[in-house]
Amino acid sequence: MTWIHRPEPWMLDVVADALGLPRERVEELASRRTLRFREFRGLLYASLRRGVAGHHEGTAVVFGRGWWRVVPGYPPIQRMVLPSVALPRHFLDRVVVEEKLNGYNVRVVLVDDRILAVTRGGLICPYTTSRLERLMGDRLREMLRELGPEDHVAAGEVIGLENPYTRYFYPEAPRFGYFVFDIFRGGRPLPPRMRDEAAEKHGVPHVPVLGVLEKTDVEAFKRIVERLDREGREGVVVKDPDYRVPPLKYTTSSTNIGDIRLGMRFFMEEGWSFLFSRILREIFRVYEEGVEGPRLDAIALELGRAALQPAVETVKKVAGGYMVYEEFELEFAGRDELEEFMDYMQSLGVDVVLVEAREEGGVLRARMRKIKETWIRVRRILETGVSPID
Ligand code: ATP
Ligand code: MG
Repeated sequence: MTWIHRPEPWMLDVVADALGLPRERVEELASRRTLRFREFRGLLYASLRRGVAGHHEGTAVVFGRGWWRVVPGYPPIQRMVLPSVALPRHFLDRVVVEEKLNGYNVRVVLVDDRILAVTRGGLICPYTTSRLERLMGDRLREMLRELGPEDHVAAGEVIGLENPYTRYFYPEAPRFGYFVFDIFRGGRPLPPRMRDEAAEKHGVPHVPVLGVLEKTDVEAFKRIVERLDREGREGVVVKDPDYRVPPLKYTTSSTNIGDIRLGMRFFMEEGWSFLFSRILREIFRVYEEGVEGPRLDAIALELGRAALQPAVETVKKVAGGYMVYEEFELEFAGRDELEEFMDYMQSLGVDVVLVEAREEGGVLRARMRKIKETWIRVRRILETGVSPID
């Protein structure tokens, strides 16, 4: 279960056919490793690391015997920073305001009656596939079977604490949950109402719809966002009821600042790229809401603390001789599944170590650590006393 570095000529033909690309182009993409080939539990597939000729990044082609299946990449969603301007300008009449759940994007397809979980980059994640199968495999299978597995793909967010990628606590899914946010038919998303009908019919959870509003009702939109902000939830994705125009996203202030606080624990990696984008969002929020005086001071203090405090704590930890890592717990059916996952992480070049594994209620629960680059870089700064950046 790893990379196939030398795809055979027929594999290149299949991809050319599936994506409608000239054969030479496919060859070139493969040689640059923009197009990568892998195997997953006996199934061969290819995936795109970047957008190519109208196919989004993360597009995958799954190979069968005499057939293939394209799993379209999930398109990026543009971000609003001034909803009062963006909503009326971008949308046509009414808008569906959905909750934006904070986890990771997973597309589910049915191939040979098996469900496959494809992550944003277009790789089939063994951990997510197995957990989804155990949690709601039958329901997802039923739903896709009825819709037509040849040309339907479900896209949703995995949330909760038990995954190797993005961990936020949600009371409705503390460990591992899946909420569908789009169903694609022949590469095009269904209107939110149809998505909800299909999901509900089969008991598949979908993202909460928080309101259907007139695009000019910015007040109602803000009330929804304020409530989410108080509850510490990520934000919203706004969609056209018939998907005539692409969706827009918006995140709450508590998330913007919370992201900085979490990211800055590892300030030489995610903190770095997080900081400016989150500050930009707050700049326009402060402007739009006309925040000033003591309320502005409070935000400034909170923002400054979020950037500084976790980073200083990390430096102290490293100076005290401790390592810096993320720790999380995962659940596996057994040893084989655990090993398959460790191999998968290794093949992606992610430094994950197993701390402890124990059997509990018929499953294997494993504690893992992802060692952070920040640890090494801070150690170096502490040793040399000089900064790697100006
Ligand atoms: P991008 O902006 O490129 O889509 P990103 O992961 O950097 O990717 P996010 O800020 O997380 O961007 O916003 C987009 C992601 O939000 C989607 O890819 C999806 O995983 C997630 N999401 C959560 N809830 C919804 C929803 N209701 N509708 C659509 N996407 C949602
Ligand atoms: Mg996200």
